[in-house]
Amino acid sequence: MSKIRILSDQLASRIAAGEIVERPASAVKELLENSLDAGANRIDIQVEGDGTRLIRVIDNGTGMDHDDVLLCLERHATSKLREESELETVSTLGFRGEALPSIASVSRLVILSRLRGAAIGTRAEVQDGILRDVHETGCAYGTIIEVRNLFSNVPARRKFLKSKRTELAHIEEVIRSQSLAYAEISFSLLIDGRTVLDLPATSPEQRMRDAYRCLGTTLLDLQAEGEVIVKGWLILPEESRTAPLRICVNRRPVQDRLLRHAAAEGMQGLLMKGQQPAGVLLLELAPELADINVHPAKREIRFRQANVVCGAVAQAAQDTVQRHQERLRARFFTTPKKEEPRPQKKLVQQVDLPLIQAAEPEPKFQEQISPLFSPPPLSIPEEQTSRLVKQEYGKLRLIGQFAHLYLLCEMEEQLVIIDQHAAHERILYQQLKQNYEQHLASSQSLLFPVTVELGPEQASFLERKEEMLATLGIVVDFFGGSTWLIKALPALVAHLPAQEVLADVLNALLANLPDCIDKLFASLACKSAIKAGNRLQPQEMLALLEEMGSSKLFSHCPHGRPVLKNFSRQEIEKWFKRI
Ligand code: ADP
Ligand code: MG
Repeated sequence: MSKIRILSDQLASRIAAGEIVERPASAVKELLENSLDAGANRIDIQVEGDGTRLIRVIDNGTGMDHDDVLLCLERHATSKLREESELETVSTLGFRGEALPSIASVSRLVILSRLRGAAIGTRAEVQDGILRDVHETGCAYGTIIEVRNLFSNVPARRKFLKSKRTELAHIEEVIRSQSLAYAEISFSLLIDGRTVLDLPATSPEQRMRDAYRCLGTTLLDLQAEGEVIVKGWLILPEESRTAPLRICVNRRPVQDRLLRHAAAEGMQGLLMKGQQPAGVLLLELAPELADINVHPAKREIRFRQANVVCGAVAQAAQDTVQRHQERLRARFFTTPKKEEPRPQKKLVQQVDLPLIQAAEPEPKFQEQISPLFSPPPLSIPEEQTSRLVKQEYGKLRLIGQFAHLYLLCEMEEQLVIIDQHAAHERILYQQLKQNYEQHLASSQSLLFPVTVELGPEQASFLERKEEMLATLGIVVDFFGGSTWLIKALPALVAHLPAQEVLADVLNALLANLPDCIDKLFASLACKSAIKAGNRLQPQEMLALLEEMGSSKLFSHCPHGRPVLKNFSRQEIEKWFKRI
């Protein structure tokens, strides 16, 4: 006699439930999806306890007639798919026809539904997968689904549930993230009779602000058209705290590491080390380009051309960052009139004097004028002299320097504070990077070449990478034995100790990581930039502002720290209790 038996539907449902209904929040997610697929424009969710006592979802969608109320409890019963071929292009949130029977197999489930236009509704009750009662009933158009005693017949699952707070937080997150892609629909969540979420129909941006309570946060909008439509908002890293990046693909919240990575790549330079991008990413693409049928709970997604999708996201994020810079530029600086090729650098003097190669001790007295700016002060073109007298650049009027670190400026009704080191660091980083990318790194010969001792491994690496070093603006020569000569350095960092620059470069190249060159530039820019504690002359501060105004990216240092911050007059008056 055969040992193999076909499982009863009831047992099969309970097994499937293990994958689909992991915790109360997963039941909420499935019910929410059904209400959205039913075209509801108002969905109210009520929860008691940690969600295992009661979950009730009330919608004003199409509703079901008597037969459908019974059918929807069967496994693989769905109104959303007919042909196999439709699986490729399915655009509803559900399609597997598994959620209701799965939930019903591990709870006491009541469905109350009335089809739009029908005279009467239907009530059905299922206990642990067995239909207990069906009858006609009066109810509003739409559907109410009640799930009680979730997992009461699966003690193992109950044991794996976390604290009430955690389970409720998961439920909230399900509703919030789903609501992002359905701003035109109202959602509410009541927990033990208390309103926790009240999200009226609104614009997508307002929905994000309402759902995540980020009313005053600066949102940088993403927008890209094409095969992949990218919408959404990025939060500036200094305002994001620990907010994650929430992603919806074709109106479905998903977790996707690749997309998060792509957004981070586009925001490069704005994110601090280890910091993740924050905000909301709403993607739309032809359903056949994405496969959501990877996981029973449909949390993960696979893209047919992942590189195209990621490329679109990275590009959109990068454009967003750039637009943000342009907005800030227009706000603080007037755009330069002429599009002349700009001289290589202004802040750091290219002096043809022997360069100091030994690491110098930090200046002891703060009063000491920055060695970067001596000798001679910047030569200021004549048309700028009047500006200098008034001490202004763009819309900023320079007030002075605070703590030998911050430039204080006035603009319209605002006080603008700029971190001189962070600002300069970003400018140098941009220049190093741009020169490198355009093969324009100008190198500066050292009047007295510097000798350096290299181990055999470093020496052979150096030989192999000579061309690469030249692209960076470094010229080295073999001297004899283990001694090498550094003859030229990149002009932008030529005032730094040559051995240190070479060591940085060798370390970066030896690491051979994808972002090693960026890291190298960030490190060189940091060493080379004006330091905290450097007192600046007004013309040097103005030159710094001018450099900022013409740098492609200036709002954050290469490590992601903000460069400038402004306080409105109103804010300041509040401090002084004037308003
Ligand atoms: P799926 O959503 O994958 O089709 P479900 O088990 O979640 O599977 O639901 C089965 C069917 O029940 C759906 O296809 C739909 O026709 C019907 N249904 C479920 N919930 C609702 C609802 N809130 N309003 C109207 N119809 C619903
Ligand atoms: Mg469903």
